[in-house]
Amino acid sequence: MAETTRKFVCPACGATKPFVKEVDDKSRPPIMSGSGMANFYHKKFVCTNCDHEWKAED
Ligand SMILES: [Zn+2]
Repeated sequence: MAETTRKFVCPACGATKPFVKEVDDKSRPPIMSGSGMANFYHKKFVCTNCDHEWKAED
């Protein structure tokens, strides 16, 4: 049940929101794209406390 919330905990330093941000992972191809609509990217998390990055699906 806490699965979604858990991903907002930095695995490196244990920081939580608001230090942890969810951002688009533009190093990977978009999940969905098409003319006239915004691209959907995979999400990754970035810790602004220690600069660690990790994938949402890890
Ligand atoms: Zn961190």
